[in-house]
Amino acid sequence: MSTFQAPKGTYDLLPPDSAKYLAVREAIATPLRDSGYGYVETPGFENVELFARGVGESTDIVTKEMYAFETKGGDRLALRPEGTASVLRAALEANLHKAGNLPVKLWYSGSYYRYERPQKGRYRHFSQVGAEAIGAEDPALDAELIILADQAYRSLGLRNFRILLNSLGDKECRPVYRAALQDFLRGLDLDEDTLARAEINPLRVLDDKRADVQKQLTDAPLLRDYLCDACKAYHVEVRELITAAGVAFEDDLKLVRGLDYYTRTTFEFVHDGLGSQSAVGGGGRYDGLSEMIGGPALPSVGWALGVDRTVLALEAEGVELELPAATSVFAVPLGEGARRLLFAKVTELRKVGIAADFAFGGKGLKAAMKAANRSGARYALVLGERDIADGVVQLKDMESGEQVAIGVNEIVAELEVRLS
Ligand code: ATP
Ligand code: MG
Repeated sequence: MSTFQAPKGTYDLLPPDSAKYLAVREAIATPLRDSGYGYVETPGFENVELFARGVGESTDIVTKEMYAFETKGGDRLALRPEGTASVLRAALEANLHKAGNLPVKLWYSGSYYRYERPQKGRYRHFSQVGAEAIGAEDPALDAELIILADQAYRSLGLRNFRILLNSLGDKECRPVYRAALQDFLRGLDLDEDTLARAEINPLRVLDDKRADVQKQLTDAPLLRDYLCDACKAYHVEVRELITAAGVAFEDDLKLVRGLDYYTRTTFEFVHDGLGSQSAVGGGGRYDGLSEMIGGPALPSVGWALGVDRTVLALEAEGVELELPAATSVFAVPLGEGARRLLFAKVTELRKVGIAADFAFGGKGLKAAMKAANRSGARYALVLGERDIADGVVQLKDMESGEQVAIGVNEIVAELEVRLS
């Protein structure tokens, strides 16, 4: 028995379940690719300052959840807790924004790391697919991203999710609101931690999940009543574009996100079958982030969808993904001569694009046919010593159970016809 275990808060993806994760990533990526988003990949770690910027408001992700460490060379790095800052850093570093075709539209898929209290749907290593549209202030871009996420979830067969939408204002109107909210929070009966949070990041208090806190927030001032005219007009336009696309959403006037850089459009996708870890994805506009990390003004918008929670949501809804069988043909050699001949045929099939697998390890007929069944292959090829002498192979249809002998030299052509 192995003494090793996966670290706390992590889990392994293994067949057959791992196929669901691939399918979810693919379903989210497809509408992005089709809409002009190019694939970007960044390192799993960054200089810690990219995330802990020292300016702006502190967030739990940075103060509590980040895996930060010093390397042997003395560099201060952090495992990436999220994708947006990395993608923006990469785009700025490569001067993508100077190529003259803004917005730069990028998508990514990968692992993220947060030192959280592990529970169902909340892990220390998890996976996201995300999209960022960098360098344009255009409500149609915000709408596009929300519509594409909706399309991705629907293409997977997910139905019981809701889109929550809010505007967080901009650098004109948000500070006025922030001060008003702070005044309000200071008058409440809150514990020390929450009062401290009210001083550093008051908007985050609105997001507190505890009932006794929420009860006191009923009369909290709302950002909607403080939005400047430009933010108001922008938000109206986003709402109209999404509505015109037939995508339903709910206004959530208390929605704030866990990252400090959001401005204006903010949204979250929640699934009602997931208990308290209900957010399957979220995002928003981050017009100030580029300047925060030393770049030019580049108003941008993006989202990240959680792959782990999307899989949990599919399970909660009882959605069975249509996963294609890994292989179409399973070859079963009986004896040494059959092994060589059939292995060569499997290679030939693979070359013409037919997915084929082989009974390795010198199995007997019974065990090999079990393996053929497990593989999900539509056809089995069984070759015994007598078949070799006759120049034939037994082709078995695994669905109907029907078996016919075909010439060894006809294997590829016959299967090409049957599988087309
Ligand atoms: P939450 O409020 O659940 O902590 P968040 O606001 O921290 O979410 P984001 O940073 O916006 O989440 O990440 C986007 C998505 O990534 C989330 O909606 C969720 O589906 C997923 N996600 C975030 N943290 C985790 C985690 N620790 N484990 C699994 N999935 C996660
Ligand atoms: Mg979180």
